[in-house]
Amino acid sequence: ESAVLSRIGLAGLAVMGQNLALNIADKGFPISVYNRTASKVDETVSRAADEGSLPLSGHHSPRDFVLSIARPRSIIILVKAGPPVDQTISALSHFLEPGDSIIDGGNEWYENTERRIADASARGLLYLGMGVSGGEDGARHGPSLMPGGSRQAFDNVSDILSKIAAQVDDGPCVTYVGPGGAGNFVKMVHNGIEYGDMQLISEAYDVLKTLGGLSNQELAEIFEEWNSGELESFLIEITADIFRVKDEHGDGELVDKILDKTGMKGTGKWTVQQAAELSVAAPTIAASLDCRYLSGLKEEREAASSVLEQAGIDDNTIRGASMSTVDKKRLIDDVRQALYASKICSYAQGMNLLRAKSDEKGWNLNLGELARIWKGGCIIRARFLDRIKKAYERNRALPNLIVDPEFAREMVQRQGAWRRVVGLAIGSGISTPGMCASLSYFDTYRRARLPANLVQAQRDLFGAHTYERIDHPGSFHTEWTKLA
Ligand code: NAP
Repeated sequence: ESAVLSRIGLAGLAVMGQNLALNIADKGFPISVYNRTASKVDETVSRAADEGSLPLSGHHSPRDFVLSIARPRSIIILVKAGPPVDQTISALSHFLEPGDSIIDGGNEWYENTERRIADASARGLLYLGMGVSGGEDGARHGPSLMPGGSRQAFDNVSDILSKIAAQVDDGPCVTYVGPGGAGNFVKMVHNGIEYGDMQLISEAYDVLKTLGGLSNQELAEIFEEWNSGELESFLIEITADIFRVKDEHGDGELVDKILDKTGMKGTGKWTVQQAAELSVAAPTIAASLDCRYLSGLKEEREAASSVLEQAGIDDNTIRGASMSTVDKKRLIDDVRQALYASKICSYAQGMNLLRAKSDEKGWNLNLGELARIWKGGCIIRARFLDRIKKAYERNRALPNLIVDPEFAREMVQRQGAWRRVVGLAIGSGISTPGMCASLSYFDTYRRARLPANLVQAQRDLFGAHTYERIDHPGSFHTEWTKLA
């Protein structure tokens, strides 16, 4: 056989793998594809023909697949995270040779990647754990890529990754993130930030709908308008679209017919667990995770809504009371500002989690560059990520996004509106846990003196944990009960 060898291979042809393979072929890189279930190989090959991509080299056996790729080989794996990745690696690695690379593009737990890096390197293989964001459409037309692990493995495919990634004004949405499991960790935090953004948007919706009385049509218009300003982002854009979709099976819009129970796959939980492990406050992201848990208790909430109705805060009373008193135009503008300020606090938390992990692991993450590769392709892509990039370029050691001079000015300008929205919601019994968490984060962080002195006194009283003084160096213990 004198077949031309492929430049790269891709194993795992479900939604993500199929679309990424077609994207690679479209950019002119000869690619071999493989999937455990053979029918998906044929499906992908014929899809490439239909969509006019470069023909794919499809293989039903791991051996033929591996041998069809030019050395040193680079193989992207896009299968379910966890054991399927190990099984795919073991099916392929028998035919791999020293210098070849495995690139796992799934939402993998970063420690699994670090274990596989060690296994691979013992056999002379290179390994990358690469976060891929943007869903089906991103994979097909330009995702945000977060590769971490072997620098050599990255260099071997950087021309391909640069071509297939989303393109923004300052380059392709890909960068070598760092060693070890850094790429997977960054993707995990990206997803945690995504949880926060979605929660904050849903709270803005709730306040506007329940307290402002806005119709779906009005909500669509407001979100569309917001999408041409500082809030411009993929999530705001799709939210406007969602409000316009009619229910095919009945009256009104589909959004009102959807059960209020959120699904999840685990990356948000991992983010909050990691924040706790690293002693980083991430209250907005944690609030969005908690809200997903509470949303799951649909039956309990329905029961509670009648038990606690006597509080006089059921949805109908709120609607009646607030719509006569609320200035709609002002509420809309306040909610926009509250959403923006809350979002900045949430990103600050995510970035600080990345920095803490980077310090712990010696990854040397470049936060400004990460904000840059999130500007396109991924779910959290947004105009204001460019401003986050610039904030970290101004000061790489910025302790918190909210003290960057530009963001600080914006936070201060928006806090009046922010407090009005949260105050109105609290007074009306509408929960806005994300906005409240962000506001508390802001108010706690900006205060030079907190009531933590009392907590220290209590700890010293019952546990002799000692305390420091504001006026003398050293650590002190007091026999509190003898003096009281
Ligand atoms: P998926 O539904 O997570 O996984 C299906 C693929 O995994 C199929 O190719 C399947 O092969 C393969 N697979 C499952 N168990 C296997 C095993 N034991 N051995 C070998 N292959 C096995 O696919 P996906 O939605 O395309 O996602 C792929 C990865 O990308 C996941 O890690 C996912 O979290 C991540 N991701 C997904 C999205 C998204 O929007 N879907 C976005 C970003 C990242 P068979 O056909 O033989 O069953």
